[in-house]
Amino acid sequence: MDRVYIFDTTLRDGEQSPGATMNVEEKIIVARQLEKLGVDAIEAGFPISSEGDFEAVRRIAEEVRGCQIVGLARTRSQDIDRAWEALKAGEDPRLHVFIATSDIHLQHKLQKTREQVFEEMQSAVRYCRKLTANVEFSCEDATRTDLDFLVRMAAGAVAAGARVVNIPDTVGYAVPPEMAEIIGRLLREVPGIENVILSVHCHDDLGLAAANSLAGVLAGARQVECTVNGLGERAGNAALEEIAMALRTRGGQLGLSTGIRTEQLYPASRLVRAVTGIVVPPNKAIVGRNAFAHESGIHQDGVLKNKLTYEIMTPESVGLPATKLVMGKHSGRHAFRERMGELGFELSDEQLETAFRRFKALSDKKKEVFDEDLETLIMDEIIQVPRRYRLDYINVTSGSQVMPTASVQLDIDGYQARNAEFGDGPVDASFKAIAKLTGTKSRLVVFSVNAISGGTDAQGEVRVRIEEDGVEVTGVGAHTDIIVASAKAYVDALNKLDYRKKNPPGQLHQDAP
Ligand SMILES: [Zn+2]
Repeated sequence: MDRVYIFDTTLRDGEQSPGATMNVEEKIIVARQLEKLGVDAIEAGFPISSEGDFEAVRRIAEEVRGCQIVGLARTRSQDIDRAWEALKAGEDPRLHVFIATSDIHLQHKLQKTREQVFEEMQSAVRYCRKLTANVEFSCEDATRTDLDFLVRMAAGAVAAGARVVNIPDTVGYAVPPEMAEIIGRLLREVPGIENVILSVHCHDDLGLAAANSLAGVLAGARQVECTVNGLGERAGNAALEEIAMALRTRGGQLGLSTGIRTEQLYPASRLVRAVTGIVVPPNKAIVGRNAFAHESGIHQDGVLKNKLTYEIMTPESVGLPATKLVMGKHSGRHAFRERMGELGFELSDEQLETAFRRFKALSDKKKEVFDEDLETLIMDEIIQVPRRYRLDYINVTSGSQVMPTASVQLDIDGYQARNAEFGDGPVDASFKAIAKLTGTKSRLVVFSVNAISGGTDAQGEVRVRIEEDGVEVTGVGAHTDIIVASAKAYVDALNKLDYRKKNPPGQLHQDAP
C-alpha cells in the first residue's frame, strides 16, 4: 500500500472561514486532537500575519509532538524568519512558502513578471533551506497557471531544495481530470520529482474539493491538504474526514492508505464544531447527523437483515458511538471519562474531576445529559480560555403585561459592572444591557435558537453572529433558560470580536493559497 500523507490546515485555512475565530488556547486543544487523529502535518498558522497567529504556531510547535508543525510564509525573508522563529522549538517543523503563479495573479495582484516570480521562489526556498531541510513550496492559484510555467516553477523549487511541492486549487476552479493532468505532467517532466512529495490543496467552490484531491492522488500526488468539517476560505477546503474515509473504504482497490485513526474523526468533528461554533449540516458526508441514519423502511429492513446491503462503512469506524448513550444522574466517573474522550476532549485528572462535579450538578437539574450539554460544560467551565468579558448573572422580568427588563452583571477585565435596560422583549433588553456595559458598536447579523435535545427541560442553544467594521464572529451559548443562553452567546461573540480586533487576521490571509 502506498502511503498518502494528510496535511491538516484547519488552524490556518480553516480559520479563514467566515465567523470561525479560534484563540490560541482553542487552537492548542484542536491541535492535540489532530495529533490523536494521526495527521502527518498540522499547519498551525501564518506567523507574520498577526501576533495571534505567531503565538499559536509557537505554542503548538512547542507542545504538540508526533506530527510535523507547519508555518506559512510569503517569499520575503522577513516572513520566513518570523515563521521560523515561531516553529524552531518543534520536533520536525516545516517551513511552507508560497507565491502566486497564474497570470491573473501576476498581473493584477503582484504586478510581477514570471521571471521575477521564479527568481523570488528560488531565493526563498534556498533561504528556507539554510534553516531546515523540511521545506514546502506552493504555487498559489496553480490550477489557473500556464502548465508549462507551472512545470518550470516546480522544477525550480525542486532544484532549490523543496521537499514538498504543493498544487493548490486556490479558487476551487479545477475539475478532476485537470487535476490528474497537472499532477501527471509534473511527475513526467520535473527532474528529480521522484525525490519530493507532490501535494494537492483543493477548495470546494464547485463542490469538487474531495474529488479533485482524490484525482490528484490517483495521478501520483502523495499529500492532501484538508480541514476538519471542510472548513476554510469561502466554500471551504477538502474535508479531511471525506479523504480519510474514501481512502479507508476504497484504498484497498486503489493500493492507497493513510495514517489516520478514523475512529477519531467524529470526536475531531465535534470538537471543531464546539470550538468554532460552525455547525455541520445534517447531510454532511461522514460526520453529519444523518450520515448513518437509515430513514426509509426498505433501507432499515435491509440494514437489519445484513448491514452490507446499504452500509459501505460502519458508524464505529468513524468513531460515532454505536448507541446514542445519554448520560444522567447515575453515570459514573468511568463512563464520564470515556465520553469525554469520544467527544475529543483530552483533560487532565484535575480538569476531569472538576468537570465530573459540574456534570453531576447539571444532571440534578436535568434528567438526560446529551453530548451537546457536555461540550458546552467543558467549553464554558473547564477549558477556561482567557476572556475579556464574563457573564456573572442575568435577571429578566417579562410577560404579557410587564415591560421587559433585564439586569446584567458582567466581569470586565476583572471588574464587576452592572446595568439594567428595558427592551421589546427579554432578549432585546438583555442585549441592550450588555451592549451598554461593553460599549460595543457591533451589529447583530444572525440570531438563532435551537433545542439541543427533546423535552421542555432541554438546553437551548443560541447562536449569534455579530459584525463590526467588516469583521464577523459567531458566538454560542447554551442553557436550560434560553434568555440566559442568549446572553451567554452574545458575550461569547463579544469576546471573539475583542480577540479578533486585538489580533487582526490582516489582509495577508486572503492572499494565501
Ligand atoms: Zn486554501
